[in-house]
Amino acid sequence: VTSIKHPGAAQFVPHGASLTELKAAIQSCRGCDLYRNATQAVFGAGPISAKLFFIGEQPGDSEDRQGEPFVGPAGKVLERALEQAGLDRLETYVTNAVKHFKFEQRGKRRIHKKPTDAEISACYPWLQAEIEKVRPVVAICLGATAARAMLGRAFRLMQHRGEFFEHPLAAWVTATIHPSVILRIPDATQRHAEFAALVRDLSGIHEKLAQK
Ligand code: SF4
Repeated sequence: VTSIKHPGAAQFVPHGASLTELKAAIQSCRGCDLYRNATQAVFGAGPISAKLFFIGEQPGDSEDRQGEPFVGPAGKVLERALEQAGLDRLETYVTNAVKHFKFEQRGKRRIHKKPTDAEISACYPWLQAEIEKVRPVVAICLGATAARAMLGRAFRLMQHRGEFFEHPLAAWVTATIHPSVILRIPDATQRHAEFAALVRDLSGIHEKLAQK
């Protein structure tokens, strides 16, 4: 596992802070430019005792307005996938690799824009701080951005999805697609197949949990 350089937010992350303190402190982060246009930073949510730690890309439109991760349409897909994989959403911690919403304004709509490697790196100290608090058994990267943050730039998601890697911040790290990908597939058969593949990837987590 190679890691990318992570400057940016480090000076804004208070040492020895609790999750609640981190959540408050992140609103003052100026680790990259993304705070300028977003409504607020969206920190992770879930119990500190969570064995599963899900990492998405960045807050979406609804998350940016509500200040909570995975409360929009992608969150609903994740919830259904967890249910079908027999995993309890309430027992999981959910967060994003990048904590401010990056978008392009088109008329009234705010269109999601992919964060750059520099922004992923800049925001990494927040991800590191929260995962160090939770110390999950399995961290699940949802999509290539989260996988880049946790597993490095060379990681190829479609070649290695559903595989498990040892990691300094969790007993295991795995990666699968971001649930928003499923929402963008126009063909129903293909959409169902992708959803089933997501559930299959998540089902592999049971074996790792059983080993603990
Ligand atoms: S995206 Fe991350 S590093 Fe950039 S300002 Fe927001 S919290 Fe700080």
